Amino acid sequence: MPPVRTLPPMPEAIAALPRDRGYPVPWVSCWANGQFIVRNTPHSGLVRRCGCTPGQGRALIGTPCADRQRRAMRQRLCGTCGRPLTSPMVFIGERDMPYSQEPALHVECAVFSLRACPHLLHHGTSVGVIIASAYGIMESRVLGFDDRGNPIRRLCPAGDGKRTGGALECLIARMPQSALRHPAEAWLAATG
Ligand SMILES: [Zn+2]
Ligand SMILES: [Zn+2]
Repeated sequence: MPPVRTLPPMPEAIAALPRDRGYPVPWVSCWANGQFIVRNTPHSGLVRRCGCTPGQGRALIGTPCADRQRRAMRQRLCGTCGRPLTSPMVFIGERDMPYSQEPALHVECAVFSLRACPHLLHHGTSVGVIIASAYGIMESRVLGFDDRGNPIRRLCPAGDGKRTGGALECLIARMPQSALRHPAEAWLAATG
């Protein structure tokens, strides 16, 4: 019999998320019913779209949806619950990372995510949480593909995309100088 996983106490905003196989799916995650589309837009040039509908079919947990990822970064929404962020914001990732592709989280959403997905904590010794009250935004654009079919990406300042060319894939948060960096496990023990 597979082990029964029990979920830690769940913030109300997470309990309201659509579920797959009984587990709440992070708001930013993509669902398998999307389509890879590239649209030409007046402000950002070519933009990758997805158009998936949360709650239908299977979730692609761990794969951010191109549409919701950019919305989260631009509108300062929490990647887990999708609601407006409050200060301080929490990024989970490599402790020394200068940038994050994962949107910021509420403190309580970060605590829940670290508890519900222990692999986040045991990914390596460098897993950290970065606490910030603001972040800058860069564009990650796919300029083309190499001989093996791997995308060639370039990071450029938000708004410069049309000049840089290629297709906008996601927005990247730039960690501010004032961000506080903690080992994830120690932060969880002190906060959770
Ligand atoms: Zn999607
Ligand atoms: Zn949240």
